[in-house]
Amino acid sequence: MTHPGFSTRCIHAGTLHDASSGGVCSPIHVSSAFAFPNATGRNIYPRYFNSPNQHAVCAKIAALEQGEDALAFGSGMAAISTTLLALLDPGDHALFQADLYGGTLQLISQQLERLGITVSFVAGSGDFDTAIRPETKLIYVESPSNPLLRCVDLTSVASLARARGLLSLIDNTFATPYNQTPLVQGFDLALHSATKYLNGHSDANAGFVVGSEALIERIRPAATHFGGMLDARTCERVERGMKTLALRMERHNSNALALAMSLSCHPAVKSVHYPGLHGHPDHAVASRQMRGFGGMLSFEVHAKWNPRILLDQLRVAAPALSLGGVETLVCIPARTSHRELPASRREALGITDGLIRVSVGVEDIDDLIADFSRALDGSTLRVADDWSV
Ligand SMILES: *Cc1c(COP(=O)(O)O)cnc(C)c1O
Repeated sequence: MTHPGFSTRCIHAGTLHDASSGGVCSPIHVSSAFAFPNATGRNIYPRYFNSPNQHAVCAKIAALEQGEDALAFGSGMAAISTTLLALLDPGDHALFQADLYGGTLQLISQQLERLGITVSFVAGSGDFDTAIRPETKLIYVESPSNPLLRCVDLTSVASLARARGLLSLIDNTFATPYNQTPLVQGFDLALHSATKYLNGHSDANAGFVVGSEALIERIRPAATHFGGMLDARTCERVERGMKTLALRMERHNSNALALAMSLSCHPAVKSVHYPGLHGHPDHAVASRQMRGFGGMLSFEVHAKWNPRILLDQLRVAAPALSLGGVETLVCIPARTSHRELPASRREALGITDGLIRVSVGVEDIDDLIADFSRALDGSTLRVADDWSV
């Protein structure tokens, strides 16, 4: 098999051979102590990011992202923070897309700047070129972004970075390698919260950085020092989750598109943000660089509908934080991820009080469409103006 397809890689890439029983799944090597001296001369230790189950899950994500190597962390933030701290020194400058995951924004403002690393923020559709300074080291983006699903032109960001001698990094959590492979488009590193779609079942926390062998070797010392490794049992759980990534993403993609179209037609809905819709400002960019538009969408209800009550009326979709699992989850960004921002700043970003984010699961689409229509039809919504309900 010269070029196995995506699903085949999901299922087979990296699987450890179980010599003792011939079992088809990777055995879980729970040891934290491995024989030394040994024939390899290398000290195997999970915090050195070199244990058998870490190798297995890293080989799988590397095969899916078409990178050479990867490191597996205990969370997405461990992957992101370790990577940034490994690559940036005091005095360096880094360029970040403005609408990043909240945890990443907090890492930047509360940790990186404290260490003397300077940063600039650029809108996803903005001009990264003119923001580059002599001391700029890297460009970091996230596409599609949270919660408005804005998409950055990946090829142009990657080629700008390459032309100017900068590293390019992308948080590929929302798209997953099923929908988008940024390394193929020229990015140096892809980061993941594997807590989301890669594991896919809302029952594990993990993160990855994927890239060339040389870059991964540059990050490995910091990874070992900071110690945010992934344990063997969770490696196996994420490896198992990733086997069905293609199947799940296919359904996430089709469900989200169908729900987005259905919501667009409801009179209570002012706007729907989904890159697969023709009216989305980044539909053209997304169509060029994505194979599918993903499972995340957000929509805004008209002022006389109270999103709090709407959430209460849903029976299939559940109000909960996090995303990327098989179950449909909803949240109100103005009340959750973007709560800390002043209302005026939120409005300026387009994150209004009536905006609802949906992580569209893999349930039957008819049930999801019926659930949202019924909840939106609920006449109790029409009178409510008490936002504290
Ligand atoms: C959840 C998330 C993270 C952080 O991942 P954790 O596993 O919670 O640490 C980073 N980026 C994006 C886009 C996310 O959705």
